[in-house]
Amino acid sequence: MIDVKLKKFVREVFPKGNIVAFTGAGISYESGIPTFRGKGGLWERYDPELFATPEGLAHVLHNDPGRMRAFMVETFSVLLAAHPNPAHLALAGLEKAGLLNGVITQNVDDLHRRAGSRSVAELHGNCFRIRCPRCQSRIMLERERVAEMVKLLQMPSDKDEARSLAHIKDRYFPKCRCGGRFRTDVVLFGETLPEEEMEKAYRMLDGCCVLLVVGSSLSVFPAASFPMHAKQRGAAVIEINLEPSEQAGLADYRAFGSAGEVLTEVLNAVRIRGRIVQD
Ligand code: NAD
Repeated sequence: MIDVKLKKFVREVFPKGNIVAFTGAGISYESGIPTFRGKGGLWERYDPELFATPEGLAHVLHNDPGRMRAFMVETFSVLLAAHPNPAHLALAGLEKAGLLNGVITQNVDDLHRRAGSRSVAELHGNCFRIRCPRCQSRIMLERERVAEMVKLLQMPSDKDEARSLAHIKDRYFPKCRCGGRFRTDVVLFGETLPEEEMEKAYRMLDGCCVLLVVGSSLSVFPAASFPMHAKQRGAAVIEINLEPSEQAGLADYRAFGSAGEVLTEVLNAVRIRGRIVQD
């Protein structure tokens, strides 16, 4: 799956370190989380104008609480069932071996952290965290708490649908000390990306010698500009994807296949696999 040219590059350059990875929804596909835009993805059944914008979600919550309930059950159930796959573990392993400086991700599934990655810039937030939009306080949620919420959402309500959902909302998205109301810490369409995470991402991009782009269509900004940004600062770009991304032409090396298989091959090629202790 990785050709001779890429294998040689990995063997010679990876042991020097200074590698950064940028990951998109494709890296978590093998963990059972479908990409949103792909076939069978979430946006085939849920209109993103309604389910991925603040105004749309407020509209659904008010006018169709049953559909909101179904959406929350479906998305959180998929996220709860997912586990890090060999691709997440490979990146965590490279970091542990001191070769990878960090991961910049668009994913909200918390799988990099669970795989053992420590340096992670989460550009689109994290579904297992709540944030107060007023004071920006953030709280990580226990998985058990999220599972409990899903269970409650699945129970038929004896009250009217809207009241029962409001009750669940109050319980799991409480009021903050500042008076604001916590919400899931994900970036919706039209919202600004978190400044701190963006700064972290650019610090990583500025200093890297190799940028690994894994499972992203690179169709939205700022992600679409990352390969060029890194290249202009002298880094080599490697794209790992099922199909060429919109920026594939910029990549110095390309490997097409599933992220788990390709990254496992990369680890084998760098011959540090034995040194990497994976959790
Ligand atoms: P995207 O634009 O990042 O595209 C997905 C890419 O992954 C495509 O290029 C596809 O060819 C590739 N791909 C699919 N399966 C793969 C595999 N097994 N190995 C390697 N590559 C593979 O993704 P999107 O679905 O349009 O998502 C847009 C945004 O929605 C994301 O940036 C994210 O914020 C959110 N999202 C997050 C998750 C998650 O957290 N796991 C999942 C879906 C969507």
